[in-house]
Amino acid sequence: MIAVGTLTLIAAVLLVTANFAFLQHWFAIHTGTLNESGPYYGFWSGFGSDLGELTLVAAIGTGTWSIARKHNCEVRGCWRVGKHSTAAGHQVCRKHHPDDHLTADQVLAAHRSAMQKPQAAPGRQPAGE
Ligand SMILES: [Zn+2]
Repeated sequence: MIAVGTLTLIAAVLLVTANFAFLQHWFAIHTGTLNESGPYYGFWSGFGSDLGELTLVAAIGTGTWSIARKHNCEVRGCWRVGKHSTAAGHQVCRKHHPDDHLTADQVLAAHRSAMQKPQAAPGRQPAGE
């Protein structure tokens, strides 16, 4: 039994073969290689000049992909930024970090503890030193 994809491919090849002259003319018009002063002038002035822009888009895409792969969470399938280190040295996101998260009460208690020890808090040094 021939798959539907194979039949579609055969039909597409037959259509292209039957209309090759029409498709060649259409391609020449849309790439700018028809009725120009030189055989490649129209191509490089029109459609061919976009190839340089395509390389820029590919470079930006590759760079973005590389940065995302380097800095994302190490848990498989997680796309969050992994900026928290575990005790074993893995870079994971806040959601996958094994320790509990800080609460507002813990931050407030740490702040009050630091304020009671003036020498430990930066910017709170006693005058005259
Ligand atoms: Zn994660």
